[in-house]
Amino acid sequence: MNMIKRIAAMGLAISVLSGPLSTLAADKKADAKPYKLDKCIVTDEKLGEMGKPFAFEYQGQEVKLCCKDCKKDFDKNPDKYMKKLADAEKGAAPAKPAAPHDHSAGEHSH
Ligand SMILES: [Zn+2]
Ligand SMILES: [Zn+2]
Repeated sequence: MNMIKRIAAMGLAISVLSGPLSTLAADKKADAKPYKLDKCIVTDEKLGEMGKPFAFEYQGQEVKLCCKDCKKDFDKNPDKYMKKLADAEKGAAPAKPAAPHDHSAGEHSH
């Protein structure tokens, strides 16, 4: 009787555990350039520390943000952040973060 529940729980656990690795197996993102930084391109915060990073694709480039809220900032000026990303990948001096970003605020789910 508990078999189905168990399988469902296992499936959940696997999908959580395989999170970062699953990008390797995902064929649908094969054309997108992988995001190489370990920090949010908007606020420079380390990814993963505040929960699962928010990942999306912009013009063939994978982008990862510390959370969904940063996507709003990204959308306001995507060119700026894409340039920042390109500079960061080249090892150029990082630009200053756009704005202070407080994760302790209640509006965050993490
Ligand atoms: Zn962020
Ligand atoms: Zn955030």
